[in-house]
Amino acid sequence: MRSTGANSGSVSRSPAVLTDFDDTAAVENVAELLLTRFGDPTWHDVRSRFRAGELTLNDYQEITFRNIQADRATMQAYVKEHAHLRPYFKELQGYCADHGIPLAIVSQGLDFYIEALLDKEGVSRVPVHAVNTHFTGQGITYEYRYARPGQERLGNSKGLVVEGYKDKGHQVIYVGDGMSDFEAATKADLLFAHRVLAEECQRRQIPYRPFKDFQDVLSALQELSQDGYVDGHGPSHEGHAPTGPLAYPGKGEDEEP
Ligand SMILES: [Mg+2]
Repeated sequence: MRSTGANSGSVSRSPAVLTDFDDTAAVENVAELLLTRFGDPTWHDVRSRFRAGELTLNDYQEITFRNIQADRATMQAYVKEHAHLRPYFKELQGYCADHGIPLAIVSQGLDFYIEALLDKEGVSRVPVHAVNTHFTGQGITYEYRYARPGQERLGNSKGLVVEGYKDKGHQVIYVGDGMSDFEAATKADLLFAHRVLAEECQRRQIPYRPFKDFQDVLSALQELSQDGYVDGHGPSHEGHAPTGPLAYPGKGEDEEP
């Protein structure tokens, strides 16, 4: 299979699959599900300010979740009751586990609600690269382990996570739906996109495959396997040329993690 991503290139590096969470691995936008149920009614206004470019994504998220009174366990129980993984995620997880292919969630959302859904679906071993939260007597505190040095105020960078997997010698298959996935999308070797991300890629002529569910990704991995990548083996090609930094485009609707 030829790579169709912005960074096409070596096809024999072992793949890694990285997927966005809200509206992608999860059918729902789980952050909004929680804010709708537990948030202060002003969260819609905060979201409008974020969409107008007045707030960063992490400001938006921290402000809205700061006003939530529910505790961690209550919110996790609500997620388990109301959220769902998109079809074939579990099959993809099984295939990746059997073939030594890294599969991870990359999200600008919060770790506790992602972990709740993975736990409910029996795939809690899938690593999560998200905002790390700590519930304290004074409320939630936030830790951004994947922020680009010097750009901490923007929160985690999904592109940085993609680069980390590429540095380990993987060709990265990335799946996403929003503008917060755009930087990662430009760095992926093979991109699956839907919703706003697909529209943006179309507009910018960035190659992608349409994403409906994880059967699409599973089929791509099976194609790669037929093409002879070596399961679970580390780098086979070094020095893959980076795309170079690409500026984030303007903010769009549905940009939440
Ligand atoms: Mg998303």
